[in-house]
Amino acid sequence: AVSFFWFRRDLRLQDNIGLFHALQSKYPVIPLFIFDDAILDSLPKNDARVGFIHDSLAQINIALHKSGSSLLVKKGKTQDIWQELITQFDVKEVFFNKDYEPYAILRDESICQIFENNNTISFSFKDQVIFEEKEITKEDGLPYTVYTPYKNKWLAAYNKETVLEYDTTIYYSNFFKSHFPFPSLEQIGFVESKIKVKPYSFKGITTYQDTRDFPAVDATSYLSPHLRFGTVSIREMVGFAAQNNAVFLSELIWREFFMQILYHFPKVMTQNFKSAYDGIQWRNNEEDFKRWCSGTTGYPMVDAGMRQLNETGYMHNRVRMVVASFLCKHLLIQWQWGEAYFAEKLLDYDLSANVGNWQWAAGTGCDAAPYFRVFNPDIQLKKFDEKGQYIRKWIPEFDLGYGKPMVDHAMARDRAIATYKAGILK
Ligand code: FAD
Repeated sequence: AVSFFWFRRDLRLQDNIGLFHALQSKYPVIPLFIFDDAILDSLPKNDARVGFIHDSLAQINIALHKSGSSLLVKKGKTQDIWQELITQFDVKEVFFNKDYEPYAILRDESICQIFENNNTISFSFKDQVIFEEKEITKEDGLPYTVYTPYKNKWLAAYNKETVLEYDTTIYYSNFFKSHFPFPSLEQIGFVESKIKVKPYSFKGITTYQDTRDFPAVDATSYLSPHLRFGTVSIREMVGFAAQNNAVFLSELIWREFFMQILYHFPKVMTQNFKSAYDGIQWRNNEEDFKRWCSGTTGYPMVDAGMRQLNETGYMHNRVRMVVASFLCKHLLIQWQWGEAYFAEKLLDYDLSANVGNWQWAAGTGCDAAPYFRVFNPDIQLKKFDEKGQYIRKWIPEFDLGYGKPMVDHAMARDRAIATYKAGILK
């Protein structure tokens, strides 16, 4: 008889709550990862995120070898894989950490049904966030839809002393002894990408509040893909933030804010949070969209951002706000197009953060920027990249006569405000 620990978006051995509990099971524990066809089938073969997952699993596997164990890696339809495992092994218990995305919730429900039919007991844990689901709500139990009161309640509820580190190392001897073969990236059907996830860094943490908005300054943490795939523990990161920088901590709270929005309002994945905005007549011009994607709009800040995204899978947050506003307001293209493009390219792509921020930029979301606020990309450039260091890095051909803006700012601004005004249902 065995137990399983199922890795998903928590790709680390240390401070992993589900694994911590799994290793205390009566039965030896097989650590498992499934490359899920339902997710992988739609991705290009050189997707950098699959490469990052593969690298992270390889590290876990090396660490497991030290305890005579190894990671079981499978690829296929998750339901079929579990059916197969349950036939192959006498599976008594399965442990995993919760995932709050709508697809994952449905998948886990159907997998738990398989466990139940087999008399396998399953246990799920909160590991990805400090506060989940309904833990931070208004006094009347309803979810917050505005960030600041959510953040205040979050901060009041957070107590560093009660958020423990889960030391798994003391239980490593309970891993199932095995030599499962570890598949290469090619065996999973993928190839190495030129794009790589950067290591995270806290070198800018002490001045974060002053420098984080300047894309030429290397001031942010690059934590986002690590939090996305769980190669770091959120408890450790929040503990560090709480001790070192309140502004940085508030960014980590934005992450949880959008996660709980998606959890309570799953329709935001595809639809406006504010349905009053459903009447907006988007232009949705395909040619305009292509110019935005390729970074050839003639606006240096927008073009530099899109080229950074296309070349590295990352874009600085300030610039994300500028390019998103430009797409929705200047070009009047619905946010879903931009959201889908980011989803394809971002190494840190996370459904809740991406739709939350896109809807914020479009003005259709909860706690949105007001619709009549239209960023001027040239003023943003003057404010945040005065010396042009960021744009020169991504637009080597940049000079003072760079490009011809594809739309005039004043015209586009007036057009956006008029279109929103006419479209918003009273
Ligand atoms: P830091 O400034 O060091 O922030 C630390 C951490 O706080 C981040 O890693 C992230 O986990 C969290 N965080 C910071 N800002 C936000 C925010 N606005 N919303 C939610 N969490 C935040 N972030 C994603 O992780 N995935 C996405 O798909 C994503 N899409 C975005 C789309 C748009 C249009 C915009 C404007 C922002 C988006 N963001 C997204 C938020 C933000 O841009 C990135 O989290 C940040 O740039 C990542 O870099 P960093 O880790 O160096 O950030």
